[in-house]
Amino acid sequence: MPAIRFRSALDRISSYRPTEGANGAAPPRPLSANETPHTPLPGVVEAIAAAAASAHRYPDAWCRELSRSIARAHGIDTDRVLVGAGSVSLLQALFQAFGEPGDEVVYAWRSFELYEELAELAGLRSIRVPLDDAVHDLPAMADRVTDRTRLVVVCNPNNPTGTVVGHDALRAFLSRVPETCLVALDEAYIEYTRAPDAARGRELCEEYPNLVVLRTFSKAYGLAGLRVGYLLGAADVVAQLDKTCLPYAVNTVAQRAAQAALGLQAELAHRVEATVAERTRVRDALLARGWCVPDAQGNFLWLGLGAASAEFGRWCMSRQIAVRTFAGEGVRVTIGLDQDNDAFLKAVADWGDAPE
Ligand code: PMP
Repeated sequence: MPAIRFRSALDRISSYRPTEGANGAAPPRPLSANETPHTPLPGVVEAIAAAAASAHRYPDAWCRELSRSIARAHGIDTDRVLVGAGSVSLLQALFQAFGEPGDEVVYAWRSFELYEELAELAGLRSIRVPLDDAVHDLPAMADRVTDRTRLVVVCNPNNPTGTVVGHDALRAFLSRVPETCLVALDEAYIEYTRAPDAARGRELCEEYPNLVVLRTFSKAYGLAGLRVGYLLGAADVVAQLDKTCLPYAVNTVAQRAAQAALGLQAELAHRVEATVAERTRVRDALLARGWCVPDAQGNFLWLGLGAASAEFGRWCMSRQIAVRTFAGEGVRVTIGLDQDNDAFLKAVADWGDAPE
């Protein structure tokens, strides 16, 4: 390669192509990308088709109608909503908002691996705080917040372990973080959360103006292929973050599809409930076999297989089941349709004894 002087951060990261989703060259049972197995909600495909007719026009750069609907759904003003091309683009916007020399970002590890790459690209120093038994260790994270910390990210439920932080624990944490430091609560999977004491960002962002909440239409809403997410926060924070977003990033089809899906709460709840029931069934079956599976509050389970992870991932793949392998740490399996989950449980049974 010619000696082009790229930023040195590029030498420290790799391209983020996490997995083949159902649209890639996936095997028959795609349980690796935490997608919903259900096709778009009724009427959404029609909204998509209708929106396609205006593809020669730029989309609404402000996503006004969708922002208004999101604001209404959460009972807040529209200027507290920022819509982006998937929550990854809002995470990028967040990280790009910081990065003066010496600035730091604190997040748990293991958590969503994109945080690490975004930090590198933004020139932020990553402070990774180990999970405590698969759960965010909020007191330890608070201990690592200094006057250099610009951002803290809490993934709730945590990808890949599926655990949640409690409401009181998060409040105690927020009370310890200076109000000059932004805290982002990544709630990509919150619709699947049933733990009664789980923290919910929307309830806390009135009280803590330095808290922003990230949501997505990719998971429960079933629009992963269209790339829509949103952020809720204080109006002045949203206005600053908006400056780091690319214009026209959310296309018209995606805006209209999300708008249609948002209006279908009853159907959505029905589907989410089906996934939650399957999650309980699969986890209970694993526990009964002696496997150790943390409390799962997303649409996926975490198997802390340690050194056996890669072999177990290959074992599943040999049975046409794609799971997400974190070599040396564990395997994350998405809750799919009943028959996919049965196939996974059969693979587990044939694998043999539960890991020590
Ligand atoms: N946050 C978390 C924790 C995730 O797991 C993901 C997707 N895997 C995202 C954000 C990004 O989702 P999207 O860009 O599709 O909204």
